[in-house]
Amino acid sequence: MINRNYIECLTCGTKAMTRTAIGHSDRQEFAFPCSGCGVEIRFAMKLDQSAPSFSYDWIKGAKWVHEPTLPDLENVRYLDGENLIPKDMKGNFSPFLLTSSLPKDPIEYLKQRDVRFFASQQVWPKLKELHVHIERQNATLFDKLARELEYEEPLDDWHGRLRAELWALEVYGAWFRPFTSSDEAFIRQRINLAESTAGSALAALIAELIASHGHQALFTECQRVRDEFAQLYPALSSLYQTLYWPEGAASLDDYQLAEKRFAELRPFVEFQSSPQPLRDRFNSESLLSLKRRARSPLGNSRQ
Ligand SMILES: [Zn+2]
Repeated sequence: MINRNYIECLTCGTKAMTRTAIGHSDRQEFAFPCSGCGVEIRFAMKLDQSAPSFSYDWIKGAKWVHEPTLPDLENVRYLDGENLIPKDMKGNFSPFLLTSSLPKDPIEYLKQRDVRFFASQQVWPKLKELHVHIERQNATLFDKLARELEYEEPLDDWHGRLRAELWALEVYGAWFRPFTSSDEAFIRQRINLAESTAGSALAALIAELIASHGHQALFTECQRVRDEFAQLYPALSSLYQTLYWPEGAASLDDYQLAEKRFAELRPFVEFQSSPQPLRDRFNSESLLSLKRRARSPLGNSRQ
C-alpha cells in the first residue's frame, strides 16, 4: 500500500508530494534532501500491523500541507523502506515494481524476504522470551515454548535446554545469512578439529570462562546486537536484495535507501568492526594464559 501526502520545506517553501510505501514494521523513518534547497527533511511514521493502520508521527525540516485540492505535483519523493529506490526514479511505478525483476530468482527472493520479516518481527521476541525462562530457571515455560518452536530433542535438564536455545538461535540466524552454507560448513569443520585437538585446554577454557563470567558477558553482548538487528532489519532489508542479483547485472550505486537510520546502526557497526567491547568484558589475562598453555588449534589456513 502506498500513501500520498504533501510537504512544504520550512527553509525555502518548495512543495513536494511524498509517495510512501506502508511497510511491515512498527515504525518507519525517512530522510531526504529538499529538492529546492538541499536541507534535510526527515519524518517518522507509526504502524500498527495488527489493525492494520498507520499514522504520521513527527516531521523535521518541513511541514505537512493538508490541501485537498493539491494536484499531482511534479516534484515527487518515493519512499519505501523495504525496497531499494532507483536514483533516477520517475513516473508512477513503485520502487517494488522497478526492482522486483533484479534478483536471479525473484520468487525465491520474495519467499526468503517474507521469512526474514517474519523472523525479525515474530520469532525474535520468542527467542528473547526463551532466554528469560533460562535466566529465571523456569523449566515449564521454557519447555512449552521450545516445543512451540518445534524443538524435538530431549529437554531433561538445563544442558538440554541450553542446547535447545542454541539450536533456535542457529536456525533463526541462518535465515539472515543466505548463500553462506559453505562458509558455515568450513567454520564447523574447524571447530570440530579444534575440539578434537585441544585436549585439556578446552576444559580449561570453559572453566576460565565460567569462573570469570565471561561467557555470560559474551552472550549478553551478542543478545544486545541481535535485538538491535531485529529492530533495524526492516530498514535494512532492501539491501539483502543485492545478494540475490546475478553477478555484474546491477550496481548498488544506482540505488538508495529510503530509511536512513544510520545513528541506530552505529553501535551495531562498532560491535562488528571492533573486538574492543568484547575484549573489555573478558579477563584478558586468563585468555593469555590459556593461549600460552595451548597453541591455537584453529590452524593457519584462514588468518
Ligand atoms: Zn527547501
